[in-house]
Amino acid sequence: MKRLEDYRGIVEDEILADLHKRASKLYDRHIVHVNSTAQGGGVAEMLYTLIPLMNDAGVDAGWRVLVGGTDFFNVTKAFHNGLQGEPINLSEQKKRLYTQVNEAFSQYTHITTHDAVVIHDPQPLPIIKFYKKRQPWIWRCHIDLSDPNPKLWEFLQGYILRYDLMIVSHEAYLRPDLPIEQRIVNPAIDPINQKNVALPDATIARYMKRYGIPLDKPLITQVSRFDKWKDPLGVIEVYKRVRERVDCRLVLAGNMATDDPEGFTIFEKVKRRAGGLLDRGDVILMIGASDAEINALQRMSSVVLQKSLREGFGLTVSEAMWKGTPVVASAVGGIPLQVIDGDTGFLVEPNDLDLCANRIVEILTDDKLAEELAVRGKEHVRENFLITRLLGHYLALLDSVLNES
Ligand code: UDP
Repeated sequence: MKRLEDYRGIVEDEILADLHKRASKLYDRHIVHVNSTAQGGGVAEMLYTLIPLMNDAGVDAGWRVLVGGTDFFNVTKAFHNGLQGEPINLSEQKKRLYTQVNEAFSQYTHITTHDAVVIHDPQPLPIIKFYKKRQPWIWRCHIDLSDPNPKLWEFLQGYILRYDLMIVSHEAYLRPDLPIEQRIVNPAIDPINQKNVALPDATIARYMKRYGIPLDKPLITQVSRFDKWKDPLGVIEVYKRVRERVDCRLVLAGNMATDDPEGFTIFEKVKRRAGGLLDRGDVILMIGASDAEINALQRMSSVVLQKSLREGFGLTVSEAMWKGTPVVASAVGGIPLQVIDGDTGFLVEPNDLDLCANRIVEILTDDKLAEELAVRGKEHVRENFLITRLLGHYLALLDSVLNES
């Protein structure tokens, strides 16, 4: 059971006292969160900690996961891609399937006496239409909304305007064309879950051995779903440039989220692109690793790369920084909130493969630089992106929609 008191020593007591005070205004309030996967991706990662901590603080928070099949998730992944600016064939059939699955889910998902409802991302967005709305509904969108496909956006707006509030991760995602209130909340990592807690050296070595990752050369790592927006093929190209100058290995750690059916196709493309490097063991694919194994990998890596083309926030960046591993990442979406170029890591334009490789080489060949980036990176995460801060935002937000209206 997760408890707020477990965070003593990591965050200041004043912060914990403030959380208890905020939560006391919400005692026995019944909140329900709905998203579309219990495993894989940043949203589930956050809900795993956020919801138990809300309960520990005295708020009755529940979690429901939308049930849908592959066809549905193909449609919603196309919507996800469309919201991030990709063209989409928005057929009536897609719209119908999207709405029907939500309607079916609403039939056996009873939202009655809840005091507030928080819907995460586009997959369960339409369910609001199938209830008599008796409480505030919040749409929490974790996606980059800065340049959505206009037709898709217009279609989704029809659902969004039924909500009382929309929350996004970055100022650039606020929408002037929406008639509802909007706020910004930054995502956050849990410093003491299996993904991020400190690990003994022997445990780290055991996990690396289990995955056949030799430690004779420095490791460059990207941890991401197999998704084109994470640009794993670009990562391989960058790695090829780096290894011409520094002998090192690349580890691509990836998993498949149940609401992301594109993963297998991208995975096959990655294998083809890595080709002989895979056979030589210079590129290693770590698939379906446990949280503790990802933790070990992020700690053992000399550089963590996040070469995204679009990125709502990118929890993997804060995860690496929290572990004192220097990060080189694309200057897209929420990443620049975390990586301040030359201070807490290095930022590069997503298509600048040469600069990306240069920055990695700089870190690999300059221990002092690596150490300085690591120290400042960790401090930046401690101040801004720990789950206690996210909990504080949610408590404040719920207080404002429930008690101040
Ligand atoms: N992740 C993981 N195993 C993997 C790949 C990713 O546990 O093989 C986790 C990663 O550590 C992070 C989350 O999935 O906690 C990804 O969140 P992020 O915000 O970076 O991206 P999203 O998948 O939500 O786009």
